[in-house]
Amino acid sequence: MSKSYSFPGFIDVHVHFRDPGVPEAETTASGLAAAARGGFAAVVTMPNTTPACDSPEQLQYQQVAAGNSTHQPTNPSTYKPTNPPTHQPPLLLPSACITKGRLGHEVANLEVLAEAGAAFFTDDGSYVADDKVMEEAMRRSATLGMCICEHAMDTKVQGEGVIRDCDLARIRHLPVIPASAETVAIRRDLSICRVTGCRLHIQHISTAEGVELVRAAQKEGLPVTAEATPHHLLLSCERIPRDDANYKMAPPLGNDEDRAELRRAVKEGVLMFATDHAPHPAAKKSLGFAASANGIIGLETAIPITWTVMVEGEGMDPDAWARAWWKMPRGILSPRAAARLDGAPQTTVEAGEWKVVEVSKFASLSRNCPYDGMEFNCWPNTAATTLVP
Ligand SMILES: [Zn+2]
Repeated sequence: MSKSYSFPGFIDVHVHFRDPGVPEAETTASGLAAAARGGFAAVVTMPNTTPACDSPEQLQYQQVAAGNSTHQPTNPSTYKPTNPPTHQPPLLLPSACITKGRLGHEVANLEVLAEAGAAFFTDDGSYVADDKVMEEAMRRSATLGMCICEHAMDTKVQGEGVIRDCDLARIRHLPVIPASAETVAIRRDLSICRVTGCRLHIQHISTAEGVELVRAAQKEGLPVTAEATPHHLLLSCERIPRDDANYKMAPPLGNDEDRAELRRAVKEGVLMFATDHAPHPAAKKSLGFAASANGIIGLETAIPITWTVMVEGEGMDPDAWARAWWKMPRGILSPRAAARLDGAPQTTVEAGEWKVVEVSKFASLSRNCPYDGMEFNCWPNTAATTLVP
């Protein structure tokens, strides 16, 4: 017997739609269909499109593509999802770059981007390596009351690494990324947060040491949050079954100790959830671990995985679990973006019945996902999704 739960609409604050850029991997329409099928009321798109989202025109392009605007799209998508949502599509809230062109050299026109509706600022996919650039961005963002989100992987420490130290890395002689790639970046950002007072969010945190830094910063009273992805909570580098790039992402999967610490921190309310949904065409993920692109799709398995791991596995309270999908993510959005969620549909889930993931049925255009055939015991009930009165 399954049990039904309804919550305020869930928000995924970390998705990559490849629009504009790589429409064969994901369009705005297919990405929103995947979000609807996954049980989400809203998503925040990352700005690493081509071109990068560092202008009001690019923010507007995404709004139009999502049907969130009264203007007609100049470049409409012709894609029709095979599994169309039965209710209003999820809201698309675009984020904008921290730096011009997402190149890390010069702070973008944050004031104009905030005015044009950016949900927050991030250079996701790249670390803002220049300390002075990041400090200027955080000072200006603090004045605007906007959050800076960081892809916390220090470029120099990461080097050519593609995986954390594990059996597969040793057997295949794969270059390793040390955990310190993340902690060096987080420490630097926390020190700038301390002097600027800027709201800081660490994206896709993956190491036990990184979690401890965030936990300590929150205790210190700094305005810092962080997110854990379903894959970092479910998988670990010590259990990658073979040289399969569907286990390759940035940051890489941590070890069992990292995974346990991430779960503990989610349960404590230190971390929220976000998917880092990262579609790629098959050709970019079939080149083995060393050469394939980073990232996996996650929108249509996020609720099943996080519930099964955290509520079923770790005994987390369902309401606390849900808050990590709606209340905590709301807190990193600009007030304007958060206000757009008023009246968004609720998220309803059915828990208690084990069902198998069938990747072939996904609404996403991409299939880079390691979960095919895995079983989880909670699923979004999109038919029961209702508008809040
Ligand atoms: Zn990232």
